[in-house]
Amino acid sequence: MSTRSLNLDDRLYAYLQDVSLREPPLLARLRAETAGLPMAVMQISPEQGQFMAFLLKLSGARRCLEIGTFTGYSALVCALALPADGQLVALDVSEEWTAIARRYWAEAGVSGRIDLRLGAASTSLRTLLAEGQRGSFDFIFVDADKTGYDDYLEQGHELLRTGGLMIFDNVLWSGLVADPDAMDADTRALRALNLKLRDDPRFDLSMIPLGDGLTLVRKRG
Ligand code: CA
Repeated sequence: MSTRSLNLDDRLYAYLQDVSLREPPLLARLRAETAGLPMAVMQISPEQGQFMAFLLKLSGARRCLEIGTFTGYSALVCALALPADGQLVALDVSEEWTAIARRYWAEAGVSGRIDLRLGAASTSLRTLLAEGQRGSFDFIFVDADKTGYDDYLEQGHELLRTGGLMIFDNVLWSGLVADPDAMDADTRALRALNLKLRDDPRFDLSMIPLGDGLTLVRKRG
Protein backbone atom coordinates (compact mmCIF):
# COMPACT_ATOMS: atom_id res chain seq x y z
CA MET A 1 0.00 0.00 0.00
CA SER A 2 1.22 3.43 -0.83
CA THR A 3 1.41 6.05 1.90
CA ARG A 4 0.55 8.71 -0.65
CA SER A 5 -2.98 10.05 -0.97
CA LEU A 6 -5.15 7.91 -3.19
CA ASN A 7 -5.99 9.02 -6.67
CA LEU A 8 -9.77 8.64 -6.48
CA ASP A 9 -11.40 7.13 -9.56
CA ASP A 10 -15.13 7.70 -10.13
CA ARG A 11 -16.14 4.48 -8.39
CA LEU A 12 -14.13 5.15 -5.24
CA TYR A 13 -15.22 8.79 -5.16
CA ALA A 14 -18.86 7.70 -5.38
CA TYR A 15 -18.20 5.23 -2.56
CA LEU A 16 -16.61 7.92 -0.38
CA GLN A 17 -19.67 10.11 -0.85
CA ASP A 18 -22.03 7.20 -0.30
CA VAL A 19 -20.58 6.24 3.07
CA SER A 20 -19.72 9.68 4.46
CA LEU A 21 -21.77 12.49 2.99
CA ARG A 22 -24.51 13.97 5.16
CA GLU A 23 -25.56 16.84 2.94
CA PRO A 24 -28.84 18.47 4.01
CA PRO A 25 -31.46 18.61 1.20
CA LEU A 26 -31.30 22.43 1.03
CA LEU A 27 -27.55 22.35 0.37
CA ALA A 28 -28.05 19.66 -2.27
CA ARG A 29 -30.63 21.87 -3.96
CA LEU A 30 -28.30 24.88 -3.92
CA ARG A 31 -25.53 22.75 -5.40
CA ALA A 32 -27.88 21.51 -8.15
CA GLU A 33 -28.96 25.07 -9.01
CA THR A 34 -25.33 26.25 -9.07
CA ALA A 35 -24.36 23.34 -11.34
CA GLY A 36 -26.52 24.91 -14.05
CA LEU A 37 -24.48 28.14 -14.09
CA PRO A 38 -21.60 28.81 -16.52
CA MET A 39 -19.21 29.28 -13.56
CA ALA A 40 -20.33 26.06 -11.84
CA VAL A 41 -16.74 24.85 -11.52
CA MET A 42 -16.29 27.44 -8.75
CA GLN A 43 -18.59 25.42 -6.50
CA ILE A 44 -16.81 23.53 -3.71
CA SER A 45 -17.53 19.81 -3.37
CA PRO A 46 -20.00 18.65 -0.71
CA GLU A 47 -17.38 16.59 1.15
CA GLN A 48 -15.19 19.69 1.32
CA GLY A 49 -18.11 21.62 2.79
CA GLN A 50 -18.68 18.89 5.34
CA PHE A 51 -14.98 18.94 6.25
CA MET A 52 -15.08 22.69 6.79
CA ALA A 53 -18.18 22.42 8.99
CA PHE A 54 -16.36 19.71 10.96
CA LEU A 55 -13.36 22.01 11.50
CA LEU A 56 -15.62 24.89 12.50
CA LYS A 57 -17.29 22.82 15.19
CA LEU A 58 -14.02 21.23 16.32
CA SER A 59 -12.44 24.64 16.78
CA GLY A 60 -15.51 26.17 18.44
CA ALA A 61 -15.46 29.05 15.96
CA ARG A 62 -17.99 31.86 16.48
CA ARG A 63 -16.78 34.52 14.05
CA CYS A 64 -16.03 33.53 10.47
CA LEU A 65 -14.94 35.42 7.40
CA GLU A 66 -15.36 34.18 3.86
CA ILE A 67 -13.48 35.80 0.98
CA GLY A 68 -15.32 34.76 -2.19
CA THR A 69 -18.93 33.68 -1.64
CA PHE A 70 -20.21 32.88 -5.16
CA THR A 71 -23.70 31.33 -4.78
CA GLY A 72 -23.29 30.86 -1.05
CA TYR A 73 -22.78 27.11 -0.59
CA SER A 74 -19.74 27.30 1.71
CA ALA A 75 -21.25 30.28 3.55
CA LEU A 76 -24.42 28.28 4.19
CA VAL A 77 -22.39 25.29 5.36
CA CYS A 78 -20.52 27.55 7.79
CA ALA A 79 -23.60 29.43 8.98
CA LEU A 80 -25.34 26.13 9.77
CA ALA A 81 -22.28 24.91 11.70
CA LEU A 82 -21.96 28.07 13.80
CA PRO A 83 -23.58 28.45 17.21
CA ALA A 84 -26.77 30.55 17.33
CA ASP A 85 -24.81 33.67 18.30
CA GLY A 86 -22.15 33.07 15.64
CA GLN A 87 -21.50 35.43 12.76
CA LEU A 88 -20.17 35.08 9.24
CA VAL A 89 -18.89 38.03 7.23
CA ALA A 90 -19.12 37.08 3.53
CA LEU A 91 -17.29 39.04 0.81
CA ASP A 92 -18.00 38.89 -2.91
CA VAL A 93 -18.07 41.10 -5.98
CA SER A 94 -21.20 39.74 -7.62
CA GLU A 95 -24.74 40.92 -6.93
CA GLU A 96 -26.03 38.25 -9.32
CA TRP A 97 -24.37 35.23 -7.68
CA THR A 98 -25.03 36.36 -4.13
CA ALA A 99 -28.72 36.92 -4.94
CA ILE A 100 -28.92 33.13 -5.26
CA ALA A 101 -26.99 32.80 -2.00
CA ARG A 102 -29.33 35.12 -0.13
CA ARG A 103 -32.37 33.16 -1.25
CA TYR A 104 -30.99 29.94 0.26
CA TRP A 105 -29.71 31.62 3.43
CA ALA A 106 -33.21 33.00 4.02
CA GLU A 107 -34.78 29.61 3.46
CA ALA A 108 -32.34 28.06 5.97
CA GLY A 109 -33.17 30.79 8.50
CA VAL A 110 -29.54 31.91 8.84
CA SER A 111 -29.64 35.30 7.09
CA GLY A 112 -29.30 37.02 10.46
CA ARG A 113 -25.93 35.33 10.99
CA ILE A 114 -24.47 36.46 7.66
CA ASP A 115 -23.12 39.95 6.96
CA LEU A 116 -22.71 40.04 3.15
CA ARG A 117 -20.50 42.80 1.81
CA LEU A 118 -20.26 43.40 -1.93
CA GLY A 119 -17.19 44.96 -3.50
CA ALA A 120 -13.51 44.28 -4.05
CA ALA A 121 -12.33 41.96 -1.26
CA SER A 122 -9.13 43.95 -0.66
CA THR A 123 -11.20 47.04 0.07
CA SER A 124 -13.70 45.18 2.26
CA LEU A 125 -10.83 43.67 4.28
CA ARG A 126 -9.31 47.12 4.81
CA THR A 127 -12.73 48.32 5.96
CA LEU A 128 -12.97 45.47 8.49
CA LEU A 129 -9.56 46.44 9.85
CA ALA A 130 -10.60 50.10 9.99
CA GLU A 131 -13.72 49.05 11.94
CA GLY A 132 -11.46 47.63 14.65
CA GLN A 133 -11.98 43.94 13.80
CA ARG A 134 -8.27 43.09 13.97
CA GLY A 135 -7.72 39.69 15.60
CA SER A 136 -11.47 39.08 15.90
CA PHE A 137 -12.02 36.16 13.50
CA ASP A 138 -11.71 32.49 14.48
CA PHE A 139 -11.96 31.11 10.96
CA ILE A 140 -11.26 32.55 7.50
CA PHE A 141 -12.00 30.79 4.19
CA VAL A 142 -10.22 32.18 1.12
CA ASP A 143 -11.79 31.21 -2.22
CA ALA A 144 -11.70 34.25 -4.50
CA ASP A 145 -9.52 35.61 -7.35
CA LYS A 146 -6.19 33.81 -7.15
CA THR A 147 -4.04 36.86 -7.91
CA GLY A 148 -5.51 38.43 -4.78
CA TYR A 149 -4.50 35.57 -2.46
CA ASP A 150 -1.31 37.20 -1.22
CA ASP A 151 -3.23 40.28 -0.10
CA TYR A 152 -5.94 38.09 1.46
CA LEU A 153 -3.23 36.20 3.33
CA GLU A 154 -1.72 39.39 4.71
CA GLN A 155 -4.96 41.14 5.63
CA GLY A 156 -6.41 37.80 6.79
CA HIS A 157 -3.45 37.38 9.14
CA GLU A 158 -4.30 40.75 10.69
CA LEU A 159 -7.97 39.87 11.08
CA LEU A 160 -7.42 36.33 12.41
CA ARG A 161 -7.05 35.76 16.14
CA THR A 162 -4.02 33.91 17.50
CA GLY A 163 -4.81 30.20 17.23
CA GLY A 164 -7.37 30.89 14.50
CA LEU A 165 -7.64 28.90 11.30
CA MET A 166 -7.39 30.16 7.72
CA ILE A 167 -8.14 27.91 4.74
CA PHE A 168 -7.07 28.58 1.15
CA ASP A 169 -8.97 26.82 -1.63
CA ASN A 170 -7.66 25.63 -5.02
CA VAL A 171 -4.01 25.50 -3.97
CA LEU A 172 -3.30 22.54 -6.29
CA TRP A 173 -5.19 24.24 -9.19
CA SER A 174 -6.03 21.07 -11.14
CA GLY A 175 -2.33 20.15 -10.98
CA LEU A 176 -1.17 23.21 -12.93
CA VAL A 177 0.96 24.44 -10.01
CA ALA A 178 3.32 21.50 -10.70
CA ASP A 179 3.29 21.93 -14.49
CA PRO A 180 6.32 24.01 -15.57
CA ASP A 181 4.55 24.96 -18.82
CA ALA A 182 1.69 26.67 -16.95
CA MET A 183 2.73 30.30 -16.58
CA ASP A 184 -0.61 32.14 -16.41
CA ALA A 185 -1.13 34.72 -13.66
CA ASP A 186 -3.45 32.56 -11.52
CA THR A 187 -1.11 29.58 -11.50
CA ARG A 188 1.90 31.77 -10.69
CA ALA A 189 -0.01 33.45 -7.85
CA LEU A 190 -0.92 30.07 -6.32
CA ARG A 191 2.66 28.79 -6.66
CA ALA A 192 3.96 31.92 -4.94
CA LEU A 193 1.42 31.52 -2.13
CA ASN A 194 2.33 27.86 -1.61
CA LEU A 195 6.06 28.64 -1.42
CA LYS A 196 5.50 31.61 0.87
CA LEU A 197 3.38 29.59 3.30
CA ARG A 198 5.85 26.71 3.35
CA ASP A 199 8.42 28.95 5.01
CA ASP A 200 6.10 31.32 6.89
CA PRO A 201 6.90 31.25 10.63
CA ARG A 202 3.63 33.02 11.46
CA PHE A 203 1.61 29.85 10.88
CA ASP A 204 1.36 26.12 11.44
CA LEU A 205 0.59 24.53 8.10
CA SER A 206 -1.07 21.55 6.44
CA MET A 207 -1.84 21.10 2.74
CA ILE A 208 -4.56 18.56 1.94
CA PRO A 209 -5.32 17.06 -1.51
CA LEU A 210 -9.09 17.35 -0.97
CA GLY A 211 -11.14 18.84 -3.79
CA ASP A 212 -8.79 21.13 -5.74
CA GLY A 213 -6.33 21.26 -2.84
CA LEU A 214 -6.74 23.00 0.50
CA THR A 215 -4.11 24.66 2.64
CA LEU A 216 -4.93 25.00 6.33
CA VAL A 217 -2.91 27.44 8.40
CA ARG A 218 -3.17 28.16 12.11
CA LYS A 219 -2.00 31.55 13.33
CA ARG A 220 0.77 31.25 15.88
CA GLY A 221 1.03 33.57 18.86
CA1 CA B 1 -12.67 27.38 -5.17
